[in-house]
Amino acid sequence: MMSKALPHLVRATRVVVAGRLPACHGAGLSVTPAHHSKKTFQEWSEFLAVAGLLGVGLAGFSGVHCSTQQPVELGPVEPELSVEMSNWSGTQTLTADRLFTPESQQELEELVAWASEKQQKVRPVGTALSPNGLALDSRGMLSMVQLDDVVRVDVEKQTITVQAGARVSQILEELQKHGLTLENFSSITEQQIAGWTQTSAHGTGARIPTVDEMITSMSVVTPGQGTLKLEANGPDSDLFRWVRVGLGTLGVVSEVTLKCIPRYTLHERTYCTSVEELRKNHAYLLQTYRHVRYMWIPNTDTIVVVVSDVAAPGATPKAARPEGERLEPFRKLLRQLNPDCGDIEGDNFAQLREKCLVMDTLNAQHVAQVNQTEAEFWHLSEGERIDDSTAILGFECGGSQWVLENCFPCGTIDKPSLADIDYMVEMKETIEREGIAAASPIEQRWTSRSTSPMSPAYSAQAGDIFSWVGVIMYTFDEAAPEIKERFRSYAEHHVDQTFKYGGAFHWGKIDLDFHSGSQRLAALRQNLGRRYDLETFGALRKSLDPKNLFGNKLTDTALSV
Ligand SMILES: Cc1cc2nc3c(=O)[nH]c(=O)nc-3n(C[C@H](O)[C@H](O)[C@H](O)COP(=O)(O)OP(=O)(O)OC[C@H]3O[C@@H](n4cnc5c(N)ncnc54)[C@H](O)[C@@H]3O)c2cc1C
Repeated sequence: MMSKALPHLVRATRVVVAGRLPACHGAGLSVTPAHHSKKTFQEWSEFLAVAGLLGVGLAGFSGVHCSTQQPVELGPVEPELSVEMSNWSGTQTLTADRLFTPESQQELEELVAWASEKQQKVRPVGTALSPNGLALDSRGMLSMVQLDDVVRVDVEKQTITVQAGARVSQILEELQKHGLTLENFSSITEQQIAGWTQTSAHGTGARIPTVDEMITSMSVVTPGQGTLKLEANGPDSDLFRWVRVGLGTLGVVSEVTLKCIPRYTLHERTYCTSVEELRKNHAYLLQTYRHVRYMWIPNTDTIVVVVSDVAAPGATPKAARPEGERLEPFRKLLRQLNPDCGDIEGDNFAQLREKCLVMDTLNAQHVAQVNQTEAEFWHLSEGERIDDSTAILGFECGGSQWVLENCFPCGTIDKPSLADIDYMVEMKETIEREGIAAASPIEQRWTSRSTSPMSPAYSAQAGDIFSWVGVIMYTFDEAAPEIKERFRSYAEHHVDQTFKYGGAFHWGKIDLDFHSGSQRLAALRQNLGRRYDLETFGALRKSLDPKNLFGNKLTDTALSV
């Protein structure tokens, strides 16, 4: 079994937060089980360096690999044992007893057949980025990290076919060579294509659907029905749409074909507004601009609007102020709060915000003061950019954080209901009334509908639009358990309001911890039962995965009928 050369960042499936798992870090890098010695210290170091270079930070992508000697029944793919895993923020961590990494389609099929015979859990994992640890299961996991080839680009048909372990960034890079790109993508692009689409992730733009809609055909390996080749317009198009967003429970996606669009340049404009102005302009913004997102800043009247559209030929951007000038309010606040803060001239906006917040992150008044400073920063940051869409669409997400993002209907593209604006006004009132230490920003984005029944943006009606709202609390080691508690109570307000607005949650962010207690859990299940056809989904799970090799606690608890 030959191992491929270490593809950069791909080992993120085994990734964890080194700082949070110190005991494993050293041991993991030096102790590798005799039967699986593919990665050397040098390879891990190389990986860590690449992660650092990509700017995702060690908090997100440091590799830890701990092993214990335990008897393993050898199947067609030798697993790594006792692998420490974590999501990007280090808020969900566990040790996977076994991590299987097939290196060919044949190995993958043999592995799934063997796992079925042995009743070995093989929960599929992508880059393990989902904030809720959706992919994680301690009993056994399967990573497609070694199956990440670009199979073909069809320039005429504007499609790309890749193995399921290919990362979004890798796909974008390949497409650029052919003058193509993806229609939309998320704030980061390190997800594997299967992980990204299985959760029905999204970018922003009320005329652009969730990312699963890019898939036109796919191969999926199932224990119940063998390997299926499904197409949007094929005889199994219904099954195709169910499997496209399957949360990893319907089979292991091994290959996908995605539709692409010609590469294009975006003209982005950032400006600040008030809720009164926004109410007047909101429908126009959604209908006019290709991409629209808002950042609501709690405890202030400021809403940051970021809109972009295809750049007109010869257009020139109205540049923003120099960075030094924009950062001045944060530098001033930090020096005032902590005169001994040292040299902060090299710090960027997110670093300065973090240094301010960490000083008293659960004190609502303190957080409000930081938020007010952030509003000043954004007022000074108004301006424009023109660049390739791949350079414009991603954005800074801040440091380690707790997050809960929902998705709710807000009318049609022809007639937006403004429920999205009402939602935010109500949420801001709750934050202020309850004295919640709510950090900025609260991101609000939009998509059109998905035709995948398990997408949070599923609708049978073309023209329906959905808003996605994410609340966050940055987490720092110093106060991590208390921050978790406080975030739970913040998240519960978001949950209650989501139900009121007929919404559901991003599959990569829904978390049973925000629905603890029998009443809250029952309310969640009722909500999911109303939003999705869980009977059909359950029947498909039984048929495709009769022994439940792929489900985990989250999917089994939330989605059982
Ligand atoms: C910093 C940050 C920013 C983010 N920004 C956004 C954003 O802007 N928009 C957005 O929508 N989301 C965003 N997310 C969430 C992220 O895009 C999703 O959670 C995405 O699903 C993660 O992809 P992954 O490859 O890490 O998948 P994982 O988390 O590893 O897995 C996700 C799901 O896919 C399944 N899966 C993985 N591979 C396979 C396979 N081969 N076959 C079958 N099932 C599989 C898993 O079982 C699991 O159910 C962000 C997350 C972070 C940490």
